[in-house]
Amino acid sequence: MESRGGRTVQSPRTMTIPLPGGEIVVQPSEVLTDSAGITCVRRVKTGKARSEEIEDVEYAMFALATTATHGSDSRLEAVHLTCETVQPVVLSMKKLEAQRLKAQSALADVRAARFPARPDRRPCPRCPSYFLCGDLPPGRLSRKILVDEFPVSGASRD
Ligand code: SF4
Repeated sequence: MESRGGRTVQSPRTMTIPLPGGEIVVQPSEVLTDSAGITCVRRVKTGKARSEEIEDVEYAMFALATTATHGSDSRLEAVHLTCETVQPVVLSMKKLEAQRLKAQSALADVRAARFPARPDRRPCPRCPSYFLCGDLPPGRLSRKILVDEFPVSGASRD
């Protein structure tokens, strides 16, 4: 799939978005510059584009970081290899601000170790944490290594 359109490829650098309580770091897949000097940051993904995918907080973070790093003339593109699509990512100021607040709130939750379970009949049965989800019983967690069942080279029973 050729989609660069003759633009010059630059080395992609990480970009940051400062938020109260921390910063979010994003890594572009590639950065292109056209003959007019306008920079285009690209997020390249395998798979097909989901409907409404560019409404995700991920793209809002890329859009904010792209403007902060490369200026207001810069552009952001979402590239999906399976469906061979290149989609310009254009989000309104209102959506960007709403996603910025969402990211800020998520960052505050991470810093406060606040991860409340939100049980839902649809995603929960497919979740890898399904049988561990919820409050843990009191007591100490310890790992049990079964040497007889999974022998480790050099392990001894002493
Ligand atoms: S089972 Fe998984 S998806 Fe469901 S509430 Fe627990 S962590 Fe969330």
